[in-house]
Amino acid sequence: MAKTTERLVLSFDAETRSFKPAAHNLLSPQAVELADKLRTENIPARIVEQENHHRVLNPQMCRPCKKAAELATANHAEPSAEQTEQEQPPDSEEESESD
Ligand SMILES: [Zn+2]
Repeated sequence: MAKTTERLVLSFDAETRSFKPAAHNLLSPQAVELADKLRTENIPARIVEQENHHRVLNPQMCRPCKKAAELATANHAEPSAEQTEQEQPPDSEEESESD
């Protein structure tokens, strides 16, 4: 019998600029449904695979969920911090071959 992988859903809190646990112990379709629902409300959401079943009832009080939220927040901030602010002009690579 196949092992079901449970997922947790993180929602992005614009006020604190960080992810927070929205729900956990969801099956994949449920997680997708919730993430879609959040996104329709303009809330960025992220689905994370759980390594095991979370025992705590409230995801906001759940340690693995908080860890996942922290990680997502760190990853979320990464691209803008790492990106070098070098904008290439769009016409820099214009090759005009004249014969
Ligand atoms: Zn949890």
